[in-house]
Amino acid sequence: ERMVTGEQFDDEEEVEFSLRPQRLAQYIGQTTAKENLAIFIEAAKLRNEPLDHVLLYGPPGLGKTTMASIIANEMNVEFRTTSGPAIERAGDLAAILSSLEVGDVLFIDEIHRLPRVVEEILYPAMEDFCLDIVIGQGPSARSVRIDLPPFTLIGATTRAGLLTAPLRDRFGVLSRLEYYEIDDLREIVERTATIFDMAIDQEAALEIARRSRGTPRIANRLFKRVRDISQVKGEVEISLATTQHALQMLQVDKIGLDHIDHKLLISIIDAFQGGPVGLDTLSATIGEESQTIEDVYEPFLLQKGFIQRTPRGRIATEKTYQHFNRPLPKAND
Ligand code: ADP
Repeated sequence: ERMVTGEQFDDEEEVEFSLRPQRLAQYIGQTTAKENLAIFIEAAKLRNEPLDHVLLYGPPGLGKTTMASIIANEMNVEFRTTSGPAIERAGDLAAILSSLEVGDVLFIDEIHRLPRVVEEILYPAMEDFCLDIVIGQGPSARSVRIDLPPFTLIGATTRAGLLTAPLRDRFGVLSRLEYYEIDDLREIVERTATIFDMAIDQEAALEIARRSRGTPRIANRLFKRVRDISQVKGEVEISLATTQHALQMLQVDKIGLDHIDHKLLISIIDAFQGGPVGLDTLSATIGEESQTIEDVYEPFLLQKGFIQRTPRGRIATEKTYQHFNRPLPKAND
């Protein structure tokens, strides 16, 4: 089972929805982003204006969708959602935009995947709250301008750099979500346990937190698997021993690296003598898409110091050799 990108099942989505905090005050961690957004929200409310457009970026599962829906709640407006790949034609987006009410939040997940022709519709919509629509064809074609109600666009993407410059420039607020601290993740696990009406030992919650790759979605997912095993064992409280056993079964190691992280790091060590190795070569070797490696796996491994990016490619660090108990290669260049 893929713990990081894992395919979304319907019931899983439903559970995720029920776990979503509703208010800024319930949103655990991300202090900087939260504090800034709280001020912008308050100011917009004071002025009785919609919030400026917000771009949320960071690896999957860190709470971008959650934050977007909280912003809509805090602004007391409707939350409308769609995603970049779901909108194929300019007309689809025009239809969504023209159905918005004053102040509504329109959330576009994976906004970097909007087709170019669709993206161009967004420019005047974001800037001047209007749509430029071409009616007719050939010499009789003419452009009609339709006014839109002022609204807030919230875009989500894994990396801000994936957006074209004209789109990125139209966001007033750029907010980067960071990997979570262990303590924040422990709080998230305990909150999730409460929602599921389960008791969990503090050390067990901490253990899940430590192994969640800094990511709430992973913490919740691991919690659910651990809970299954604990319930089958008939525990009244999820114990540390059961948690460790379950996480071992899930192939999540002591610091939260999963089998794909392992495959990636081991292959840099074994197949490429520690690197440097280019992203595409690495991708072909381990059979994972370059984009997934770059957006999902690498950011965490870079942050934790397991790999470094050099102009010639990725290299494994000393820490990686130590983690896998491998002797360091002899320096020869
Ligand atoms: P993203 O949109 O960045 O992929 P989501 O907003 O879908 O991430 O968050 C994934 C899950 O993690 C949600 O179901 C939510 O329950 C949980 N989550 C995310 N951020 C937080 C947080 N700050 N506090 C509590 N739970 C969170």
